[in-house]
Amino acid sequence: MNSVPKPSPDLPEGLHPDTLAVRVTVPRSQYGEHSEAMYVTSCFVQPDSETSARRFASQEEGYTYTRTGNPSVTAFERRLAALEGAESAVATASGMSAILLMGMGLLKAGDHVVCSQSMFGSTIKMFGTDFAKFGVETSFVSQTDAAAWQAAVKPNTRLLFAETPTNPLTEVCDIAALAAIAHEAGAVLAVDNCFATPVLQRPISLGADLVIHSGTKFLDGQGRVMAGAICGASKYVDQIFAPLIRSAGMVLSPFNAWVVTKGLETLSLRVKAQSANALQIARWLETHPAIERVFYPGLPSHPQHALAMAQQSGTGGAVIAFSVRGDSPEQTRARAFHVIDSARVCSIATNLGDVKTLISHPASTSHGRLTEEQRQAAGVVQGLIRLAVGLEHVPDIQTDLLRGLDSCTSIV
Ligand SMILES: *Cc1c(COP(=O)(O)O)cnc(C)c1O
Repeated sequence: MNSVPKPSPDLPEGLHPDTLAVRVTVPRSQYGEHSEAMYVTSCFVQPDSETSARRFASQEEGYTYTRTGNPSVTAFERRLAALEGAESAVATASGMSAILLMGMGLLKAGDHVVCSQSMFGSTIKMFGTDFAKFGVETSFVSQTDAAAWQAAVKPNTRLLFAETPTNPLTEVCDIAALAAIAHEAGAVLAVDNCFATPVLQRPISLGADLVIHSGTKFLDGQGRVMAGAICGASKYVDQIFAPLIRSAGMVLSPFNAWVVTKGLETLSLRVKAQSANALQIARWLETHPAIERVFYPGLPSHPQHALAMAQQSGTGGAVIAFSVRGDSPEQTRARAFHVIDSARVCSIATNLGDVKTLISHPASTSHGRLTEEQRQAAGVVQGLIRLAVGLEHVPDIQTDLLRGLDSCTSIV
């Protein structure tokens, strides 16, 4: 953002992301606080009217009003950009508002978008319904079939938007292949990196132009606040999105920014530990007779296992989906509800990336607003359960799942 000071964190070049995650920030205040200060203020006092005028005209650096910039928000933007290997980042009030900001900034009536049909439910809704209202057309294609992405490209295609792994089925797409398709078409590739996080996968290094985040998930990591961000080259972030959010206003609050900034300090440890727990649980779930199928990129049975291992630092991530056996959608739904409702440790809640394990039924929650046709296309069947694995002791989670799994086939 050109109207706020570009803080120089005074760090040497070449630092590892684990170092950047705890060290990149804004300059300390005159008090020399060690932990980042929380600037909970809606405006900033100006030394005089001339300075104020220059700052409002973006001719001089300096904070004026929190919709335009705030040091707590800048600290988060700088730290996340460093982790993603991006030139810049702009923080937003939620993940969905990052996607809204991206669409508002990049697209106009008559433009075309190619998007995976397995995207997050609200993303499908936004592109399929809300942006359509403004004359932006979206083609939804198979997540995993690069040829289908290629075939959907039109002369007016401006954006390819992917999410990998997807929610909830953990389908993996080839970021480098999609970047090549986008760039040949003169379009931009954006990747929603919510599931893998920069700890496992850095889309920009694979050719993506923009990275979308829901900071609500792993970046916060303890289920406290809503947050979002777009990361990318300055020509997009500072030239298009930052000026736009000044008027559009879906800014991240300073308090929430402070929480996610502190969350980034433990991101690497949490994502690795939660992924290790998830792998153990996924392997074990595959052996249970009541389960039809386990969806987890870390398992050799996953259709894109090899690609996932190459693209995600050899790790499957911390989210598993699995379907329970049954003869009809009604029966599998009842059995899935039984497994979920029998849990006494796992929380019945629709979020992910929390250190507490969450269990949910995607067909009636995250994907509940979709039509049955959109849901089928996304593979979100009634017997599907999503497990967002946390930091609990793995045998405690297994025991918790067995409470419902061992008895669910008695439901007819
Ligand atoms: C949750 C989520 C979003 C939306 O983020 P919010 O912070 O809830 O607005 C977008 N994409 C993915 C993959 C998500 O899981």
